[in-house]
Amino acid sequence: MYKEKKNNACILPVGHARRMPSVDIEFSDITYTVPNGRKDSKIILRGVSGQFKSGELTGILGPSGAGKSTLLNILAGYKSTGIAGHITINGVKLNSRRFKKLSCYIMQEDLLQPKLTVLEAINFSADLKLGFHVDRQTKDAIVNDILETLRLTNARETTTERLSGGERKRLSIALELVNNPPVIFLDEPTTGLDDLSSIQCIELLQRVAQSGRTVVCSIHTPSASIFAKFHHVYVVTAGQCAYRGPTDGVLPFLQQMGINCPIHYNPADFVIEISSGEYGEVYVEKMVSAVDTKCPITPISRSPKCQFEIDDKNIKIPWWDQFCTLLRRMMLQFYRDRSYILLKISLHIFLGFVIGGLFLGIGNDGSKTLFNFGFCFACLIVFLFIPMLPVLLHYPFPLGLESRSPVVDPQLYVPTQVQLVKREHFNRWYSISPYFFALTLSTIPVQIILSLIYLSMVYFFVGQPLELFRIAMFFSTCIVCVFIAESLGLAIGSTLSIVNGIFMGPVISVPLMLVAVQGLGEQDPLPFYRLVPMYLSYIRYGLEALCVAVFGYGRKNLPCPPEEVYCHYSIPKEMLRSIGMVESGFWSNFLALVVILIIIRAITYYLLRQRLQPNKTFQALHLIGRLVKSHLSMD
Ligand code: ADP
Repeated sequence: MYKEKKNNACILPVGHARRMPSVDIEFSDITYTVPNGRKDSKIILRGVSGQFKSGELTGILGPSGAGKSTLLNILAGYKSTGIAGHITINGVKLNSRRFKKLSCYIMQEDLLQPKLTVLEAINFSADLKLGFHVDRQTKDAIVNDILETLRLTNARETTTERLSGGERKRLSIALELVNNPPVIFLDEPTTGLDDLSSIQCIELLQRVAQSGRTVVCSIHTPSASIFAKFHHVYVVTAGQCAYRGPTDGVLPFLQQMGINCPIHYNPADFVIEISSGEYGEVYVEKMVSAVDTKCPITPISRSPKCQFEIDDKNIKIPWWDQFCTLLRRMMLQFYRDRSYILLKISLHIFLGFVIGGLFLGIGNDGSKTLFNFGFCFACLIVFLFIPMLPVLLHYPFPLGLESRSPVVDPQLYVPTQVQLVKREHFNRWYSISPYFFALTLSTIPVQIILSLIYLSMVYFFVGQPLELFRIAMFFSTCIVCVFIAESLGLAIGSTLSIVNGIFMGPVISVPLMLVAVQGLGEQDPLPFYRLVPMYLSYIRYGLEALCVAVFGYGRKNLPCPPEEVYCHYSIPKEMLRSIGMVESGFWSNFLALVVILIIIRAITYYLLRQRLQPNKTFQALHLIGRLVKSHLSMD
């Protein structure tokens, strides 16, 4: 159980705790600027300084738009560009990589993995954050300890979608407490909670802080009882600091400025009203200019034992442990999503009937050989859109929600995968590569099964040759195309917003389809400038492989129905010649598809990585994009 032991902040007195250093954060002259319009830039923080100590619950207060979340995001490392100033951790210059190992950031929106119970969610968090070298018994003790402390024991079997607002928030905190981080940042933890849940949430944070952690949260108009629970308050107004110090020092500070808080008035409301300029700008200026003299930053005395030291080896969880846990979690979530599975199976059966019905019995009809070509093309189109579209919806950032909370009922809000991964990756639950490999592996069985359902229906309905090697060639080509389309969807979805992704999906797909069927029936060879785009489209390789599987490899002439006078294309070789595929081989096309799949998968991995952890080039591209956007919106 959590015991309150404020004096010895160096060793956390939490039942499951490893020895963790106490961490004091100091920052001076932090300025944050964002580009604004053509030549302009907007200053959001104007040289703010302060210190947040271990063992204290600090509240960052201020009117809306003052810069509270921005300050929190900068200290947590969530924002890393456009910042000037100094941040030190226990007196040592901030090394953001190392600091992230000591801290966690609980965002305003409760981004919880769907289709998991509370117990499963926290167990997966324990496996990811502690690895497999901590035995199950110890993990169970930790999990029970946290569930009890956060009053989640009764909800342990409830799925995350069914939790109340307060329970969701407590679970978000619980998931991060598993590895006992010494620093916890929270962006407006009480937003969306009722009064009682808000008080309980802040009480919990107070207890967590008193166990030796540094807990910092931005908070919007707290009630008097919530305000009183903070040990330390930092007031921000228009990007400047208007007060920093103990909570009970706020009113004396205001008195020194010549402002008396009316009796029975909430001091939090009062200080926010004053700092927002409701009583005149003169008081705001007075507060800002008095901060350095009346609330000076005093050096923190630290015992030598509490030096800032992290043992990287102890914290690093093996790649394999992360991969196995993520794969298990993905499979469980997929299995739980029964309605989605049923929908997908029904969709494939429905399409099987539609496409099978459209091309019914043409497979062995010498007068309908061209239709058979159309059937191969239709299969590739089905396997372009059907795997791609769900990924486009499932993955992206919804517009405008990258760092802000969704203004929707949390019960109805379904975060997209990239948002969830961004939160977990930022809090160092796992690296991107085990996630990506687990994602790749988890979709393979289901995509194969769904494709087999559709293919076995249409292949039979259409009356294609029932020769094993042709079936194997046809099915394997289609399945590789499914994975290519899925990877394309993932690449687009993990890079763009839903609206842009849904637009870009077809914008990329339609040219891919069109360039693949160039030159059909033309006698002259295609010029180079038409050949290049044709062979850049994976659909061309798919089409050639399917046509060769159906018509190649010495297939005998197809029977011509008695009512037809002459069936020109009943000779398979003639058919291949007229569509320009007589010299195509199956294996070269299949190999080309596999190479394309590997390349697209590698690009997808790179794009996802840049989305979650952008390098300098991507940061610059992002900045240019924002400048262009603001240019266009000004015109
Ligand atoms: P608070 O959390 O105090 O409500 P924020 O820190 O979210 O305020 O934002 C402070 C101000 O900075 C707001 O006016 C907001 O509109 C502005 N702001 C924040 N981020 C950006 C950005 N990327 N571009 C332009 N303005 C921004």
